[in-house]
Amino acid sequence: MYNYDVVIIGGGVGGLTLALKLAQSGVEVLVVEKEKNPGKIYKGELLQPKSLMYFDELNVIQPILDVSHPLSTIHTYEVEELKDGRVRENMYIPLHYSRLAFKYPEARMIPHETLKNILLDKASSYDSFHYWNPAVFKGFSEMNEKKHEYSTALIHMNKEDLHVSASFFVGAEGRSSAIRKAMKQQVVTTQYNHHFLTVTFPRPESYTEARMYASHKSFIGLFPLPDNEVRCVMLIKPGDYPKMKKEGLHTFTEPFSHFEPELADYVTQIESWKQIQLMIPVRHNIHEYVKGNAAVIGDAAHAVHPMAGEGMNLAIQDGAVLGDLLAWMHETNNKNPSLLKQFEQVRKKRADRLSLMSHFSALGYMWPFRWYQFGRMQALKRFERHPILHYKHMLNISGIGWWNYTPFDGIRFFGPSWMYLKRRFRRRCEEAIFTEKDDYPWRYS
Ligand SMILES: Cc1cc2nc3c(=O)[nH]c(=O)nc-3n(C[C@H](O)[C@H](O)[C@H](O)COP(=O)(O)OP(=O)(O)OC[C@H]3O[C@@H](n4cnc5c(N)ncnc54)[C@H](O)[C@@H]3O)c2cc1C
Repeated sequence: MYNYDVVIIGGGVGGLTLALKLAQSGVEVLVVEKEKNPGKIYKGELLQPKSLMYFDELNVIQPILDVSHPLSTIHTYEVEELKDGRVRENMYIPLHYSRLAFKYPEARMIPHETLKNILLDKASSYDSFHYWNPAVFKGFSEMNEKKHEYSTALIHMNKEDLHVSASFFVGAEGRSSAIRKAMKQQVVTTQYNHHFLTVTFPRPESYTEARMYASHKSFIGLFPLPDNEVRCVMLIKPGDYPKMKKEGLHTFTEPFSHFEPELADYVTQIESWKQIQLMIPVRHNIHEYVKGNAAVIGDAAHAVHPMAGEGMNLAIQDGAVLGDLLAWMHETNNKNPSLLKQFEQVRKKRADRLSLMSHFSALGYMWPFRWYQFGRMQALKRFERHPILHYKHMLNISGIGWWNYTPFDGIRFFGPSWMYLKRRFRRRCEEAIFTEKDDYPWRYS
């Protein structure tokens, strides 16, 4: 029988952030990861400012800054596709992270596996970190189902079934979470009327800005990565993927050449459909993140639509917050499982809001009608031009705070942009930022 303080199932970004925090605090932590080789599917690559702040606290920020690409503005273009294939710009809407008075007023693009390797390397430098790979969590072999007290997990490694006991178990296994199932959590799922195709291809050195192009019937996003690569996404109708594959690779590459002629010679370097991944967006939520001495984080707790670039960030931020709580319980020698609920109190509301915001961002691109695009353009224009709405939007997506959308926004939406009180605005901006007490309330009780 093996024994640890905390067992984390899943060595993705969420599980590794949590494990790093615990290892730094001297908590004996085991991460169980089933995949031996780096994941081949594309996953989140955009780090929001709040995630950068947590990595700063975990003393792992420098290697991340060294190998990531900064984005201070998301350039959004509403366009019209002309009959000859060219594209005409209708409206340009830049959304600036620099509006945020924060240590990291930018997002960062980093390849998913590079980030995981940085976290794993750093965690491995601590004696209290243990990593079983490849190893699969099979379920609990001992538990009190009524009280949700889990005492022993069954882990399959090297053709053997191993019994591992721990004070706490964390499910960080992504969308299909076995711990979530053991916790008997009902998943509420939302599906969408579109899919995405995504791929990384080379870019010119000068192509350094993130751009999103939307016409009434198309959407593509281009996000520069380090090493002169660019990650792109294209929205398609369900069922279009097999048709496009049949017709040829040009059905994927041509739109990019039209929307972004500068990349025409680069997108054609994609050699086969094997490089392009189909991504089916889904949103799911559960009622409780904690049951007894078990908790779920990241995609195991909440999968979000990728439009606002939040999925990976929610996982990292869950890991950092739960990590601090478990570290504090270790420091104060208090292993009462009921304290775990404080993680849910901090994180669930934030995750639910960002999940809803990602959902609304997705709704903005759901229907291929000109009037729909017109409505979206009016909304985006107000968001960009009105100082409060611009700030609110960037604050909320960055994760560094939350400022509720209110009925007043409706008035702001249609009223002139200059109608706001500067002093009050500054005070509200400060109040909306999460403090250390908001993030780690147990340290202040
Ligand atoms: C195709 C795709 C594209 C995405 N694109 C974006 C994007 O553009 N932007 C964005 O922000 N987010 C995106 N996301 C979401 C983002 O990648 C996830 O939100 C994030 O990776 C969640 O992290 P996680 O640690 O919770 O789970 P994961 O990254 O899924 O990690 C879970 C880990 O658990 C392991 N595991 C699972 N079951 C077991 C088991 N029984 N035993 C042991 N190990 C197990 C898995 O192998 C995996 O390594 C995308 C997700 C997918 C699937």
